[in-house]
Amino acid sequence: MAVLDSVSNETSHRAAERYVGVGLMDIYEKVIAQERLSYDDGVRLYQTPDLSAVGYLANIVRERLHGDRTYYVRNQHINYTNICNKFCKFCSFYAKKGGPAPYEMSLETVRQRLMEHLDVPITEVHMVGGINPRLPYQYYLDLLRTVKEVRPHVHIKAFTMVELIEIQRQAQKPLETVLLELKEAGLDSLPGGGIEILSERVHQELFDRKLDGDGWMEVARTVANVGLTQYATMLYGHIETLEERAEHLVRLRELQDETKHFVTMTPLSFHPEGTDLDTIPHPTGYDDLRNIAVARLMLDNFAHVKSFWIMNTAQITQLSLWYGADDVDGTIHEYEITYKDGEFGNKKQVLTRRQMIKLIEEAGRTPIERDSLYNEIPPLEEPTERLSHIIPLTATV
Ligand code: SF4
Repeated sequence: MAVLDSVSNETSHRAAERYVGVGLMDIYEKVIAQERLSYDDGVRLYQTPDLSAVGYLANIVRERLHGDRTYYVRNQHINYTNICNKFCKFCSFYAKKGGPAPYEMSLETVRQRLMEHLDVPITEVHMVGGINPRLPYQYYLDLLRTVKEVRPHVHIKAFTMVELIEIQRQAQKPLETVLLELKEAGLDSLPGGGIEILSERVHQELFDRKLDGDGWMEVARTVANVGLTQYATMLYGHIETLEERAEHLVRLRELQDETKHFVTMTPLSFHPEGTDLDTIPHPTGYDDLRNIAVARLMLDNFAHVKSFWIMNTAQITQLSLWYGADDVDGTIHEYEITYKDGEFGNKKQVLTRRQMIKLIEEAGRTPIERDSLYNEIPPLEEPTERLSHIIPLTATV
């Protein structure tokens, strides 16, 4: 038996060498042994020209954790204001001359937005906005309460770390108290954005009015202390180096070792259109897949890695399911942060449940509807889906 085992190990080792090449076999051995990859391994995974080797390695981890299971959620995004005083150079969302007109949603508008989709069994409402100094603390509490009044059972994922600092400034209370009061009003988890990439160099060059990496990590620790879950992101494809990407992943991994409160990692593909960096080319599909794969390999203490179809396109998201991703995010409905060039005012970006299922099954994986914390939602009898504002699966966003 021992001889047979050793023959089979030898065969799979040789097969792996054909897929990943001799140069990455040390990383393959670590992946098989479930050993932690180092910062240097991360840099090599970013540098190697052989993307399919990186994808092969990431898929080993993905299938070990989830098999073919691929998660999606029925959710709705609400971006309550685009007025912002941070002027981040990579951002096309905030109101500016020649760009989007300023808006601030009243609670009544938020209520109407929610009512528009009441026929869809949404389980999550995702809310983020600009840093709008005109909004008082009470607005944020009422915003959460409004959502829970209309949809008592949804999970509210809201406010980046930067918004939390603004909310605390308005509240004039300790952050921990503010988080507990937001929780009481209906907040269930934090989407985790706001740092883009944990590099002081990039922070200084692109978003120096926002809190820095150490500040972001301190807010994340407070979030964990009050028992809220959080998600993590990394914005790539602007001015960051490959080394800074690897460093970002290592720092997130260390924080997760400490707090254990992160659920999912979502690498976010930079969209230069309408930003101060619009001469930078858009990240390629190759880059999108690599960032999914390296995140999966480096973040051994994160259960899930997501391909956010709005930013990666539905097509790359299908491929990503073989490059480390086990989640495709959700049905969305409206998304104001990125949308097709020249279509200011038209924020409808939807994949219906049926389209989600098709997207996942066509890629050879098994669709599982989940809630925000990855509890499986049992399939229900479907109401007829409205088709008026659904984007075709082949469209880019
Ligand atoms: S990324 Fe956020 S904080 Fe920065 S300008 Fe855009 S909305 Fe404001």
